[in-house]
Amino acid sequence: MSFTAYKDTIEEGDFVFCWISREIIKPIHVKAGEVLGTRFGIFSHDDMIGSLYGAQISSAKGYGFIHLLHPSPELWTLSLPHRTQIVYTPDSSYITQRLGITVGTRVIEAGTGSASFSHSFARTIGREGKLFTYEFHEPRYVEAKQELEEHGLTNVEITHRDVCNGGFEIEENGASKDIRANAVFLDLPSPWTAIPNLSSVISKDSRVGVCCFSPCIEQVTKTVEALMAHGWSSIEMVEVSAKRWEARKQMVRRVDDAVERLRDVKRRKDAGIQRRKDDIAREALEGTEPSIGDKRPASETPQPEEKTKETGFNPFGKGVRVRDGDPQWEWINVSKVESDIKSHTSYLTFAYMDPNIRVVNPVEEVAEIIA
Ligand code: SAM
Repeated sequence: MSFTAYKDTIEEGDFVFCWISREIIKPIHVKAGEVLGTRFGIFSHDDMIGSLYGAQISSAKGYGFIHLLHPSPELWTLSLPHRTQIVYTPDSSYITQRLGITVGTRVIEAGTGSASFSHSFARTIGREGKLFTYEFHEPRYVEAKQELEEHGLTNVEITHRDVCNGGFEIEENGASKDIRANAVFLDLPSPWTAIPNLSSVISKDSRVGVCCFSPCIEQVTKTVEALMAHGWSSIEMVEVSAKRWEARKQMVRRVDDAVERLRDVKRRKDAGIQRRKDDIAREALEGTEPSIGDKRPASETPQPEEKTKETGFNPFGKGVRVRDGDPQWEWINVSKVESDIKSHTSYLTFAYMDPNIRVVNPVEEVAEIIA
């Protein structure tokens, strides 16, 4: 069980994400003899053990089903217990890409909050990388620490600290730890008070990126001022406005089709009534009890082709299933925006510190020239 390594088959003790519906994802620890109760039925953990990740299993009574998914930071973000506002995947994926975070990157994150982004960082940086995450709220720090340990995220070090007043340095054996961060993510109410503390913990020999996540433009203004004052350059603010577009074919439906559909329903209903009458009459003649269902001899049972003919016209309801784009029918291409995508709109302020570029503060430069 791991967020950072993959395997195929579910074993006892594994952490499994049960996809119940798009809105309900339940992370569970699989334990022999236990069951998962949902509104779609009861699912036995015993059925999960030995199943492949990605498999669909049926409820005990067989009428409901769920999918068993491998842990991933994206699923955790959708199902974690919220201790704070969190960073959702549309933002975290964009930030990760813009800061150039990859295997081996050393990242600073403050605050940890619900550790939604921490899980994503941990997966991206791999075993070669390191995430230093800071949280000043003690109960949140304790819960996050326990969660990170339980999820096997050994490349994450969480520190209980107010980074605005106490900075980012970590003492180890009487000396300061070598943090050398290549990327910094600040999700704090006042990132401008933490920015002055970064210079001693960022890498001195590679380009370093910082991203500050703030919901108000006033916070952005103060952050930009602090970044400029402390030698950060290429400052840019963006807002991620994620929308999911669905593009598909839609069958063109005409009034004539709808009328024909109603006629088809009536035809099939009449045929069913007639068949039932014939069954009763035949069974009365044969002296057997009338029974429910189609009791025609096997030789009279319609063959698939016959069935197709019988229910041939029914593109909008029961009967023949029409494949998208079937040339027998007329189609138009449609696209729709899904409005329910989970994202938390904040302004993202990016800036970079490059050891090869000397950034000049224009105010200081003018003062220097005058002097
Ligand atoms: N990014 C996190 C996630 O994806 O789950 C959510 C972070 S949450 C919005 C902000 C967190 O920063 C809170 O838990 C808060 O306690 C913490 N925090 C605020 N000021 C802080 C400071 N000066 N030092 C450390 N943590 C701080």
